[in-house]
Amino acid sequence: MISFMTDEVFRKLEFSEAEVTQLTLRDLRCPNCRFLIDKVYSDIKGHMQVKCPKCKNAYIMNLAYFRTFGHSRDQDFTVYLTKIE
Ligand SMILES: [Zn+2]
Repeated sequence: MISFMTDEVFRKLEFSEAEVTQLTLRDLRCPNCRFLIDKVYSDIKGHMQVKCPKCKNAYIMNLAYFRTFGHSRDQDFTVYLTKIE
C-alpha cells in the first residue's frame, strides 16, 4: 500500500490537531434521516458536499445554515438544500 504521509503532511496534521484545542466539535447529521455523517469544528465555514452512508442521499450543505442540530424534523427548520441527482 502506498502512503502519502510525507513529513510535510505529518507536520500539517500536527498543526491541525494543535489548532482545535480552543474549538468545539459538533455533529453533522443527514437532513433526511439524521444519521451522523461527520463531525465538524466550530470554525468551519462554507459549503460542503455530503453523501449519507445510510439513506444514500447526497446534498450540498451551507454549514452556516446547519449550526445547530437540535431540531426535530417537525419543527420549523428552514434550510436550503440542493439534492444532487
Ligand atoms: Zn440520511
